[in-house]
Amino acid sequence: MWHTVRWSNDLLAWQCNGEYCKKYQADGTRCKHTRAVNQVLAARRQRIALSMGGQVPAIVAKMQADEDTRQAEASHCSSQKGNLSGNRGFQLMR
Ligand SMILES: [Zn+2]
Repeated sequence: MWHTVRWSNDLLAWQCNGEYCKKYQADGTRCKHTRAVNQVLAARRQRIALSMGGQVPAIVAKMQADEDTRQAEASHCSSQKGNLSGNRGFQLMR
């Protein structure tokens, strides 16, 4: 059984399609699959930033912190995030 996590333009958040997740985890935006995707994206950005060097790691770290804050507050004005993260979905094992 696969859980697919996709970017939702309606919710402005990553959303999991798991039935249980959608029902009990804030519309599928707070389940472990969604959290895993957010972690993958955070790690990926950090890695890319480090390979670019110079000021970039500091800038990306700041961006990531801002995004984490926004997600913690379940903000509704994070329109940059979709562009930043791309719109490809993720599939995760249950
Ligand atoms: Zn899920």
